[in-house]
Amino acid sequence: MPAAIAARVDAPQVPRTLSLEITYGCNLVCGHCYAESAPGLGHGTMSLGDWYALIDLAASVGVARVQLIGGEAALHPDLPALVRHALGANLGVEVYTNLTFVTDTLWEVYGLPGVSVATSYYSPEPAAHDQATGRRGSHAKTRANIVKAVELGLTLRVAVIETASEADAAAAEAELRVLGVTRVGRDRVRSFGRAAAGAPDPAGLCGHCGTTRAAILPDGKLVPCGMGRWLSGGNVRDTPLDQLLAGEQWRTALAAVPAPRAACKPDDDSCKPKLDGGDCPPAEQQACQPDWNRR
Ligand code: SF4
Repeated sequence: MPAAIAARVDAPQVPRTLSLEITYGCNLVCGHCYAESAPGLGHGTMSLGDWYALIDLAASVGVARVQLIGGEAALHPDLPALVRHALGANLGVEVYTNLTFVTDTLWEVYGLPGVSVATSYYSPEPAAHDQATGRRGSHAKTRANIVKAVELGLTLRVAVIETASEADAAAAEAELRVLGVTRVGRDRVRSFGRAAAGAPDPAGLCGHCGTTRAAILPDGKLVPCGMGRWLSGGNVRDTPLDQLLAGEQWRTALAAVPAPRAACKPDDDSCKPKLDGGDCPPAEQQACQPDWNRR
């Protein structure tokens, strides 16, 4: 085992950020979706009580923040309750949503102190954006809610994914900045999930997966990152999170994750390329956003 990997695996740590994938379902069908989310896939087997218990335990063992995501997190009827529970546990909260629909209740939740919102955007051209999401009209809805989020003064970051061309992504970023979005990141499509060309390749992971961050899937599976979802560290419905993080299965999963690039320091601004406002590739990956609570 390479020394850099061995050092990390020998000293498993509590991730600062824990992504909670609260649903498999999504109203969109993006061709690049690493979770392969789609309408009608359901919210998995984690009950509300399971999520509450996990959040409480995560906070008690040193997790600093959670990210609520899916699929489309806003499809889960208990999203507001989960946000409030995490805040009550003194955790920072990010809701990652496609922003195609926001109820009055969700706008209220998104504006709570300690809550931030993140979304993805693909092109200033409606047809190109809708091509990426697989849903006509999605561009108009997401763009309108980005504008509203800015008007409301919400803490917002937007990830631009190069689904069409680099020029298109650059134009999208420029448009977002004109709209008043200050935290804009860029990334390319990663070869995972629906965008995968063959078996998943750990080399596509940023290397911080499983150490500074980890994710829990809707069935309770602990994984290093939403992209590295085939690397299981066990299931929080069977074993408490802190025991999983100290377990042999987690060590084995981490051993498959490549070492971070030397230049990549997720806790400062030297992390290049600047993705999602200061991230490591794969920037768009929900579990890989080291600074999203420092805005
Ligand atoms: S990338 Fe996000 S918005 Fe698109 S299908 Fe997947 S979960 Fe839904």
